[in-house]
Amino acid sequence: MDVKRVYTFGNGKAEGKADMRNLLGGKGANLAEMNLIGVPVPPGFTITTDVCNEYFDKGRDEVVELLKGDVERAVKHIETLMNSKFGDSSNPLLLSVRSGARASMPGMMDTILNLGLNDNVVEGLVKKTGNERFAYDSYRRFVQMYGDVVLGMKPSNKEDIDPFEAIIMDVKAKRGVKLDNEMNVDDLKTLVVRFKEAIKKQTGKDFPTDPMDQLWGAICSVFDSWMNERAILYRKMEGIPAEWGTAVSVMAMVFGNMGNTSATGVCFSRDAATGRNRFNGEYLVNAQGEDVVAGIRTPQQITKEGSIKWAKQQNISEEIRKSNYPSMEETMPEIYEQLFNIQHKLEKHYHDMQDMEFTVQEGKLWFLQTRNGKRTGTAMVKIAMDLLHEGEIDEKTALKRCEPNKLDELLHPVFDKLALGTAKVLTRGLPASPGAASGQIVFFADDAVKWHEAGHQVVMVRMETSPEDLAGMSAAEGILTARGGMTSHAAVVARGMGKCCVSGAGAINVNYKDRTVEIDGIVLHEGDYISINGSTGEIYQGEVETRPAEVTGDFAELMKLCDKYTKLVVRTNADTPHDSEVARNFGAVGIGLCRTEHMFFENEKIKAMREMILADTQDGRENALEKLLPYQKQDFYGILKAMDGYPVNIRLLDPPLHEFVPHDLAGQEVMAKDMGVSVQQIQKRVNSLSEANPMLGHRGCRLGNTYPEITAMQTKAILGAAIQLKKEGYDPRPEIMVPLIGIVKEFDVQEKVIRDTAKQLFEEEGIEIPFHVGTMIEIPRAALTADLIAERAEYFSFGTNDLTQMTYGYSRDDIAGFLPVYLEQKILKVDPFQVLDQDGVGQLIKMAVEKGRSTRKNLTCGICGEHGGEPTSVKFCHKVGLDYVSCSPFRVPIARLAAAQAAVEE
Ligand code: PEP
Ligand code: MG
Repeated sequence: MDVKRVYTFGNGKAEGKADMRNLLGGKGANLAEMNLIGVPVPPGFTITTDVCNEYFDKGRDEVVELLKGDVERAVKHIETLMNSKFGDSSNPLLLSVRSGARASMPGMMDTILNLGLNDNVVEGLVKKTGNERFAYDSYRRFVQMYGDVVLGMKPSNKEDIDPFEAIIMDVKAKRGVKLDNEMNVDDLKTLVVRFKEAIKKQTGKDFPTDPMDQLWGAICSVFDSWMNERAILYRKMEGIPAEWGTAVSVMAMVFGNMGNTSATGVCFSRDAATGRNRFNGEYLVNAQGEDVVAGIRTPQQITKEGSIKWAKQQNISEEIRKSNYPSMEETMPEIYEQLFNIQHKLEKHYHDMQDMEFTVQEGKLWFLQTRNGKRTGTAMVKIAMDLLHEGEIDEKTALKRCEPNKLDELLHPVFDKLALGTAKVLTRGLPASPGAASGQIVFFADDAVKWHEAGHQVVMVRMETSPEDLAGMSAAEGILTARGGMTSHAAVVARGMGKCCVSGAGAINVNYKDRTVEIDGIVLHEGDYISINGSTGEIYQGEVETRPAEVTGDFAELMKLCDKYTKLVVRTNADTPHDSEVARNFGAVGIGLCRTEHMFFENEKIKAMREMILADTQDGRENALEKLLPYQKQDFYGILKAMDGYPVNIRLLDPPLHEFVPHDLAGQEVMAKDMGVSVQQIQKRVNSLSEANPMLGHRGCRLGNTYPEITAMQTKAILGAAIQLKKEGYDPRPEIMVPLIGIVKEFDVQEKVIRDTAKQLFEEEGIEIPFHVGTMIEIPRAALTADLIAERAEYFSFGTNDLTQMTYGYSRDDIAGFLPVYLEQKILKVDPFQVLDQDGVGQLIKMAVEKGRSTRKNLTCGICGEHGGEPTSVKFCHKVGLDYVSCSPFRVPIARLAAAQAAVEE
């Protein structure tokens, strides 16, 4: 059977169409489609992605032989439609050659423009255009591009200078000019000659003069680029199979730099920043695409409305605007009208905002590309909702159009764009918690509180944070740490608070004693201004202005739509009434994890806690716990009230006790005084708490099982608060969760303490509150024995932070030491503490759910590790049948959207 390898398009006809992107690549399919719907596109042809595979199977010579007839016919087809001839020295046709895979792979493969020029043809171009400078400028650009891309002249080492650029610099230096456009025709001719010499010298071959040879070279080099190192890595990262291959699209060149009736530009059918339904874009008269990007000339606005707005922002008067920067609507009204109509038509056709490239050659408009436009989070939501209202798309499509992570932009403050332009980046860390923060540097939590109370905005800079720093973190605008990964204390807590945080910025040296931080040779003192971007990890010197997040009505509407389709519900990780309220406003339907340890750090509480830790008898501990009880009860009262009517899953004390005692002498002295004992006694206890491996040490249910009085106190506080609320007419729904179990017996012992305490309390109070007792599944052994555990535990909550830590054997607090190298060397694709490892950790979850439900049919399963707010992980949770995900308040909308998408995509 005859295989069709080449698909032509032009003059309103095309052999391909939009839904053939697998065969023709995204670009090729859209070029064909534009022809079919009557959009003017320079004629051309696309060689299929299948040929790319043949190329690697059969080799270059055989494939060129196979393609020869088809390509020659296709070139003729272009010649006929363009009324010119490829390689002709009086009326030449030039071509562009572009790659295009079915998925967009930005910057991975190359493009060659102005193909078909040689010493004779360039003279034809001079004659045809009457513009010698234009012709030779095109020629030297072509030789350079072809040399770099096809002949391998581009240095593989980024530090090495491109040999062509070196020649350009030399020519400019000899002539004493700075800019490319200051070179005259003779300079350009010199460049061509010297470029060719450089090619001969480096490759040992002459620059190909036969246009057909040039074309084959370009086509094959596009295929070759599919297997270049960059493209292979990119495919691996994005999960794009090698057998997809790239297509090659060859098109007639059209020129926007042929005088004042020519132009080039880029336009969008809607505003990509705000989503407003406003056609907009930029253009330049008498220019090539590169000139727009190069920033040599200021591009002008396409619409008059946009132009007036732009001039206002630039402080340019209306007279100057009209004379120097008029809009296309004003200078080329007829072309503008065509452009406007076509962009509208394209958007209607694709049912999405389009990003288009066009060129006007001597008064004739050509479209070179159209694709669905990239957009901000705000624009994404607005456009999806607007298109839904306009009847362009249905509800499920609207949901799928929104990228969950992009909602983040709508929830946190951001840096002012203008201010950012002049800010100096000092270094980068991990983007631990999104948003923007600017403030004066403080190094200690109590300073953060004091400065904040005195009306300062502060950024707390630390080596790392610990639960002691909580009040400071809450008072600060943002947190910056030198150590710690994405699930370090600072990162987790900051995300929970919706506070900007950059963690693990290895290049910063914090000196607590001098109260300075040194970053790359620059020393900043307490009180100096610093700005951090928790969405990118960038750290700026000085104060960079921020503005609050924009939340629009469309956003609320999108969330409602999520609820209509979702199966998974979304709870939140919260341990204060305020966070609970924030999360509830974002649509959380309960608390999936309330970490009780954070509640122990305020004045009186930490004293009682430390007294408990210091006590060496059960009596002594019970005494101290008795003091803590009313505080804990108050805490739970607030949270259960804020989540009235929704389940609140409260976890018993989890971290090792050493986190609650001071490790510095000053702190120990204060503690000694508070407790009325000697500093030595304190130090002895602190030392006895120290563990070689605290994350695997005396923590979690091991605390409750060695000190059951802690569990009893917490149970009393939780259920006592619930009883009080019930009496006041509320509907509290507490759940009590045992952390870190690996053996079912660990759970049994804790459950008995809980149930006995509850029974006694209910008898005393004469009122009973229904509640559930469940467990975290965060130790691999718990997952492996989930059937046994589910016989006892009423629900599971997967603690994927610890489960990831123990499955990989990576310390969650120390991963920053090797993670960057692992990511760079692609040993890991992503940080497994951020994105759930579906192949390993995920299999443990899947198995535990199945096993658990084999012994308890209605076992409720949720996730409360950081992955509960990460879209791909949320989708996995949907797939394995979890009932809910729980995440920090500011990720609730993201999880809701991801959960709805999982249901819709099923
Ligand atoms: C977990 O381990 O996933 C979890 C939620 O608990 P923590 O992060 O408090 O250890
Ligand atoms: Mg845990």
